[in-house]
Amino acid sequence: MTATFDDVVGQRDAVEALRAALVRPVHAYLLVGPPGCGKEVAADAFAAALVCPNGGCGTCRNCELAAKGRHPDIVHSTRSGATISVEDLRTAATLAQRRPLEAARQVLIIEDFHLATRSAPALLKTLEEPPATTVFLLLADDVPPELVTVASRCVEVAFPPLSTAEIAAALASDGVEATTAREVARASAGNLDRARLLVADPSFAERLSLWRNVPAVLDGNGDIAVIVRQLLDATDAALAPLKERHAEDLAAREAASEAAGERSMPGRKEFLDRQARLERRYRGEELRAGLSMLQRAYGDLLAESLGSDAESTAEAKACGQAIDCITSSMASMKHNPNETLHFEALLIALRRCKVRV
Ligand SMILES: [Zn+2]
Repeated sequence: MTATFDDVVGQRDAVEALRAALVRPVHAYLLVGPPGCGKEVAADAFAAALVCPNGGCGTCRNCELAAKGRHPDIVHSTRSGATISVEDLRTAATLAQRRPLEAARQVLIIEDFHLATRSAPALLKTLEEPPATTVFLLLADDVPPELVTVASRCVEVAFPPLSTAEIAAALASDGVEATTAREVARASAGNLDRARLLVADPSFAERLSLWRNVPAVLDGNGDIAVIVRQLLDATDAALAPLKERHAEDLAAREAASEAAGERSMPGRKEFLDRQARLERRYRGEELRAGLSMLQRAYGDLLAESLGSDAESTAEAKACGQAIDCITSSMASMKHNPNETLHFEALLIALRRCKVRV
């Protein structure tokens, strides 16, 4: 169930650095890379190897427990809200003082550490005077300026986004047909998790053409409210494969817990919170992918309009304005606006650009 280093796609330098670190691990590692770059998989594999006395032999009791995702010394620190709070990190600092239960050391994993911009100082003292038997694995999408001090107390391991070719190759070895693998890899923006879900999603191509068609619908007399409804419904449907996978993961964990004779699955709430967070993030990525497709559609119209006469110049200018509108719409998505109002406003602005299709 838990990953090994062989499950990490690409990232040769990062995996090599982590393997080398097993000989004499330090007290804290910061794994930095964008979503879907494989840092979570690498962190799981590294944690499993860290609790094994032989650096991940695959056969001892520690390895067995780790493989089942049930090693008591591999602890995922959880957060209570949208960001990592001071309270969350104080709890992690207390946990860090605990003695390992099975292995010679415990591994404390904190995901989404880029969300600790305000609270990070709460962990500083622990990182400066680390308990001898705890190794921190901090995972972050990036290192904002507020985190530089904490980052300087850790060994940083960089995970660059995966290339389109690496993602296409990974999909092909999953058994995906080559052309589809390439198309999906291009739409996944370096995010392998997203690529794997897109492959499992039969409506992927339909959704892209829905976005691609927006300029034509706006040039005609399509009803903006109706178009926005269609786009958002398609986005809801896009989440179906992820939700299905989450339900399977939960069922597997519950079955493992029941088999172990536990009355209820430990950490159930945190597990569900994490799934909900991943679903929200996936939705955001889906909308951003749609907007890039829309931008590409206007880009193609711009390329077609290139000529020296007045009509082409006006047309090119209109396309340029439309592209700018989409750029600023993408930027303001960060503030979690009301989606319906947000996209209706964008489509009204785009119609005003008067691009002819
Ligand atoms: Zn082992």
